[in-house]
Amino acid sequence: MKLGFIGLGIMGKPMVNNLLKAGNEVVVFDVIKENVDIAAGYGAVAAASSKEVAEQCSLIITMLPNSPHVKTVVMGENGVLEGAKEGTILVDMSSIAPLASQEICKACAEKGVKMIDAPVSGGEPKAIDGTMSIMVGGDKAVYDEVYDILMTMGGSAVYCGEIGAGNTTKLANQVIVALNIAAVSEAFMLSTKAGVDPIKVFDAIKGGLAGSTVMNAKIPMITEGNFKPGFKIDLHIKDLNNALETGHGVGAPLPFTSLAMEIFQNLRADGMGQCDHSAMVKYYEKLTGTEVRK
Ligand code: NAD
Repeated sequence: MKLGFIGLGIMGKPMVNNLLKAGNEVVVFDVIKENVDIAAGYGAVAAASSKEVAEQCSLIITMLPNSPHVKTVVMGENGVLEGAKEGTILVDMSSIAPLASQEICKACAEKGVKMIDAPVSGGEPKAIDGTMSIMVGGDKAVYDEVYDILMTMGGSAVYCGEIGAGNTTKLANQVIVALNIAAVSEAFMLSTKAGVDPIKVFDAIKGGLAGSTVMNAKIPMITEGNFKPGFKIDLHIKDLNNALETGHGVGAPLPFTSLAMEIFQNLRADGMGQCDHSAMVKYYEKLTGTEVRK
């Protein structure tokens, strides 16, 4: 099948690679030429704009940072809607605000383009393995049509409801991940300051109720002092911002999310916005003057 793919960052590149490995032809675009060159090295065909991708493909996937980027790529000058034929399907896999998904879907519908939101969790390792968890909102018939393509990149895909429901589900995921990283950082600082080796603590508790996918993924990074992203603090700030705005809009107070947000803001102010979100531990390290390392 011939597919378009726009947004070739940490996640987009391995997703394109998996689509190619499954035998698809993939036409790609990104504003960073180096990323396009890497995807071309996997066998993708480079296009000069999002419009050109849409002119060549009737199924287009986007994997961009946030709502404004998706709006620009889809609704902007030289964007998808300038090149798309009626009946084209747009699968936006970026994590954006649910209200933005609804707005973009409406603009698509006016041009006869069918859009679903299908954000993912799992991060770069699962994007590479093709085992991401995919959460989908939009027309169920469109979801059914693209299910096999989604499963080329994911280990599971769950239909969550109307357009925006995928991103609402993703916001819940991001709140849980942020608070889990905060809990892990706080607890491992406690045990480190009290003189117990963090690796021993990890080995002792990872199989119990406190164990989590977050702990399994992040404690090895934290104890090695490796904060290469992964998932950038800047992107997590974006997600928590979308969660807080959505929470305020629907009347769901998010007190712990606000705290996690302020910690991330503090780290960004310290120049760590491009670090992995596991660098949240550095906030506690600054407070105590002690590092959680093996
Ligand atoms: P990234 O910053 O590495 O990549 C984003 C890409 O989009 C970049 O290559 C950028 O050049 C491109 N881009 C931006 N504006 C563009 C435009 N106008 N036209 C074309 N390309 C444009 O981000 P990422 O880590 O790959 O994340 C992408 C999305 O997936 C985000 O919404 C993020 O929240 C979500 N996500 C990321 C992870 C992760 O672990 N990295 C996990 C799950 C979900």
